[in-house]
Amino acid sequence: MKIAEIHICQYDLPVKNGPYTMAGSQIHALDTTLVKLVTDNGLIGWGETCPLGPVYDTAHANGARAALAEMAPGLIGLECQVLALHRRMNRLLTGHSYAKAALDIALHDVLGKHLGLRVADLLGGAVTERVPSYYAIGIESPEEAARIAREKRAEGYGRLQVKAGGRDVQEDIAVARNVWEQIRGSGMRLALDANRSWTMRDAQFVSRGCADIPLVIEQPCASLQELQALRPLLCHPLYMDESSEDLGIVTGAVGRRQADGFGMKLTRIGGLHQMRAFRDICEAGGVPHTCDDAWGGDILAAACTHIGATVRPDLLEGVWIAAPYIDGHYDSENGICVEGGYITLPQGPGLGIAPDESLFGAPVATF
Ligand SMILES: [Mg+2]
Repeated sequence: MKIAEIHICQYDLPVKNGPYTMAGSQIHALDTTLVKLVTDNGLIGWGETCPLGPVYDTAHANGARAALAEMAPGLIGLECQVLALHRRMNRLLTGHSYAKAALDIALHDVLGKHLGLRVADLLGGAVTERVPSYYAIGIESPEEAARIAREKRAEGYGRLQVKAGGRDVQEDIAVARNVWEQIRGSGMRLALDANRSWTMRDAQFVSRGCADIPLVIEQPCASLQELQALRPLLCHPLYMDESSEDLGIVTGAVGRRQADGFGMKLTRIGGLHQMRAFRDICEAGGVPHTCDDAWGGDILAAACTHIGATVRPDLLEGVWIAAPYIDGHYDSENGICVEGGYITLPQGPGLGIAPDESLFGAPVATF
């Protein structure tokens, strides 16, 4: 089975009750890129990549489409094998993991359909049909953050992530304390995510100001050097997100015990193939992590849910998907949703999603 056609589509995902606010950026709509991969025996696989605007990571939507167009001609005729795809993509283009991830997801979808297996089973086997999610509260006032925390506790979420940074650290401390008051005793876990925006000074102030709260601090500062220097100064476990750009950094961080956990994005690390290796490195090191992506629609949500279903349950911090924050689904019947804090693993084969192609309009490029 060989790759016969690659089509690239663009779609604007509307943000529900927008904008969604993080330290340093506001999100009103998400520009997502879809890949339709057609094989020489007529199977179709779908992939997606959806950077969270141009400043969250070293990724942007136009860059994804340009990188896909750069690689696609060199992939036509390639055998449908995951290793062959990644090696060929790396020969055609250095970096741009977030674009390569869309092709990787599409190939896993096709392989699952070809073999009659769900993607989770291709990745080692699902250990659950009900995958825990977590809810991310954007930059809010202490009162509003507390209201959302109460609501999410009632809905059944097992974990909250609260965005911080870009304001007086006393406000971040007040938010963390207010949210903790709402979830204390419920068993819910709490992460405070500054999305790289704190100085080392800010991070120490917040950690000391919340020293009595069992939370984790996620990506407080921008650089790996800051994270390394900061970790022994904090009262809390340190999770790495944006800095964990590739498997080399992850391997180093796990091996040298530089991070207590990870927020991991499927498209940042390069796709399901790398995510599987990441999962195994974390399991070998006993390191908890999420399986997320930076927004995206049903295709990315399905891919994150399939890998999340294979993670050792005590190490899974949850699968964050954008569905609660966006309007509509690509697949009106089997669209991925969070219900009661959990996502139901789609029934395959492949990703288990059949997108309504008419939503995406004509492809922006075809190879
Ligand atoms: Mg994060």
